[in-house]
Amino acid sequence: MKVLLLGGGGREHALAWKMAESPELEKLYVAPGNAGMAEIAENVNIKVSDFQGIADFVAREGIHMVVVGPEDPLVEGIREALEADIRLKDLLIIGPGKAGAILEGSKDFAKEFMFKYQIPTAAYMTVTPDRIEEGVGFLKTLRPPYVLKADGLAAGKGVLILEDLQEATSELKEMLEGKFGKASQRVVIEEYLQGIEISVFVLTDGKDYKILGSAKDYKRIGEGDTGLNTGGMGAVSPVPFADGIFNQKVEEKIIRPTIAGLKAEGIDYKGFIFFGLMNVEGEPKVIEYNVRMGDPETEVVMPRIQADLIQLFEATARGELKTARFAMDSRYCTTVMLVAKGYPGSYEKGKEIQIGKVEGSLIFHAGTRREGEKILTNGGRVIAVSSYGKTMQQALDLSYRNVKEITFEGKTYRGDIGKDLMKLEN
Ligand code: ATP
Repeated sequence: MKVLLLGGGGREHALAWKMAESPELEKLYVAPGNAGMAEIAENVNIKVSDFQGIADFVAREGIHMVVVGPEDPLVEGIREALEADIRLKDLLIIGPGKAGAILEGSKDFAKEFMFKYQIPTAAYMTVTPDRIEEGVGFLKTLRPPYVLKADGLAAGKGVLILEDLQEATSELKEMLEGKFGKASQRVVIEEYLQGIEISVFVLTDGKDYKILGSAKDYKRIGEGDTGLNTGGMGAVSPVPFADGIFNQKVEEKIIRPTIAGLKAEGIDYKGFIFFGLMNVEGEPKVIEYNVRMGDPETEVVMPRIQADLIQLFEATARGELKTARFAMDSRYCTTVMLVAKGYPGSYEKGKEIQIGKVEGSLIFHAGTRREGEKILTNGGRVIAVSSYGKTMQQALDLSYRNVKEITFEGKTYRGDIGKDLMKLEN
């Protein structure tokens, strides 16, 4: 099978690495890819937003399957664009159409969906510019902190958590006046959920699903979860408190009703669902849906999948996931992200990366590019170092040992990935 994977980050490198294991893979293309993926795939210089360019390439190369990494093309309707092309009628696509991608593309839609199908989530109200006063009234009924969310995609920046009612009121107004452009034309005000965050990943063909396990990521740049939000500084899988009882609640109260809800809405969903959850005193509640895998969670989830990913994708696209062979590795996997100095603020690119004697870890490239014989930094997040371990501590020790083998000017990372969870490890 010839496959085209869309994206160019650590998530896509992990997906590419897992697909490359499959004997069914004839040729893997990645658009745009990065220096790491170039070793196992052919990088193609097409933007993920260039649907026509992608369709032409798929037709020309006789590609059988397209796997979509990031959310933007899904929300913008890449599935529909490819399906509408008469040259591509047998193409298999991993990633939902617009109707499913709206679960991530509109927080208002996601909240309405959760309430309709009785999926546990925070209380909320969606506010439009003509109903600001009602929004302020709702804020007054809540206890601080106050959660304000731009309805649409805002590159992970559209969520504000504020301690003060006054501030929340003025931010609400600013958002509705266009602080996040079109994305905040509507604002979701939410009850604050106190607990520990956890993500659960599912692959579904719209009827059946496989649970790819749980993970926790570390968003802030600074140790002890301080400083600015990033795309993610590290992750661990599984999450120790996600034990049998908790997982059962997630499956029964959240995963099953979500899949059933999609079906009831007539949404033919074929792809990943990322459930962003809060564990509120043992009860899982949904914070958000994403319609793709997370980054860096993919870098700890893919290594734990014990199945042929191409076969799994094929079964997903054909609606035959029920009978697909699938298991998860019981070991822990952890990843530590190496980032450029200054990230998530301004940072320099083009620093040469030296990779020494890495033993026992998987190296997933994020922002890297090749120039001749050299590998150069090409983004804020540069390389993820993923490792297995019987215990989380063993996996982390190995990741941190190999982190030292990779050097570039300004290399920055958090030294406390997984530390908060270690005391919960069973
Ligand atoms: P992401 O970068 O994860 O895609 P996003 O912009 O889609 O983020 P959310 O995931 O909905 O937005 O919210 C971002 C973060 O804000 C969450 O990861 C969580 O830490 C926090 N958060 C969101 N909603 C709540 C809530 N109701 N209660 C407590 N914390 C919340």
